[in-house]
Amino acid sequence: MSAGFIPYGRQEIDQRDVDAVVESLRSAWLTTGPMVGTFEKAFADYCGAAEAVAVNSGTAALHAAMRAIGVGPGDEVIVPAITFAASANAALYEGATPVFADVEPDTILIDPRSVESRVTPRTKAIVAVDYAGQPADYDALRAIAEKHGLALVADSCHAPGATYKGRKAGTLADLSCFSFHPVKHLTTCEGGMIVTQDEAMAAHMRRFRNHGIDSDHRMREKTGSFAYDMVELGYNYRLPDIQCALGLAQLARLEDWVARRQRIAALYDSIFVTQDRVRPLVTRADRTNAHHLYVVRIPKRGDVGRNEAFAHLRANGVGANVHYAPVYTMTHYRETLGVRADCPNADAAAGELLTLPMFPGLTEDDVRRVCGTLAAALA
Ligand SMILES: *Cc1c(COP(=O)(O)O)cnc(C)c1O
Repeated sequence: MSAGFIPYGRQEIDQRDVDAVVESLRSAWLTTGPMVGTFEKAFADYCGAAEAVAVNSGTAALHAAMRAIGVGPGDEVIVPAITFAASANAALYEGATPVFADVEPDTILIDPRSVESRVTPRTKAIVAVDYAGQPADYDALRAIAEKHGLALVADSCHAPGATYKGRKAGTLADLSCFSFHPVKHLTTCEGGMIVTQDEAMAAHMRRFRNHGIDSDHRMREKTGSFAYDMVELGYNYRLPDIQCALGLAQLARLEDWVARRQRIAALYDSIFVTQDRVRPLVTRADRTNAHHLYVVRIPKRGDVGRNEAFAHLRANGVGANVHYAPVYTMTHYRETLGVRADCPNADAAAGELLTLPMFPGLTEDDVRRVCGTLAAALA
């Protein structure tokens, strides 16, 4: 048992990762070399998709997705109320307006009925978030997207390896975005990926991540040419070769890590069955959950609720966390942009959500210590 602090998430790094990084560091290419394409191909294959485009963060992945589907000023993009701010910020980067849809109380996934109610003639896209690791209801969202001619984007940053009706995350939307931040399933330190079946959009995003320039240094070296053109305003969102080497080494263990996370979640669930004060989120029968996070709701009773439980856990060495306050409660949205959103389920959940430690290295004894500490907080 860990006697010390148990964080809410932690990366797994072993000798294979170190070797892969050192080998790449000693190679001719530190960035935009052969490892980029190798990592992209491996990640696309893992998802069962045609194309994957590596970028230097999950946020850059979302931004590239907005550019690829042509979101711009005057357009609206529907996003769930409860997510990391980057899911909504990506629309702002391209001058569009995020519109917040409510979430389902028992999954915190975007509610398709709320999405339908938010569609206007200006709506251009839906960004679904696979909250905590469970895919959103993509069939329902696809039906809405087709009815109104919208693009469907998945923020699958929580969900590599998850499935919806037997289909894997990465194949559930027009474009699916992943993050390789250390707290996510696999890490490249910072990094991200967009997965798609659409070759033209993939080519566009590869240009977008390189300033909007139509060729990269390696391509020009091969053809012996110096000339290039910048055909649109892009960014430097490139993921270095060293980091792709790390990602590739990590990817080989992703399947095992997802299985380990699912066993940890099952253990938490089995313990909380007997604790009426703790309500774990549910996973729908038609999906598998990759469990980036293990989230419960703690309804307030008397003076004790989520905030008291959080403080007690932290005081006793358990790194609880909260994911997330509704995006529209952030100062930039509420005050600077004046956003108001009618999302009663998100508002009700905001005071009750509690994230408990979840990472592959978490032991059974750790889980029992977390649960015992939480029970004491609520007693
Ligand atoms: C982590 C995360 C992002 C952003 O990813 P970065 O790699 O940190 O930029 C976006 N959306 C969600 C839901 C995330 O969890």
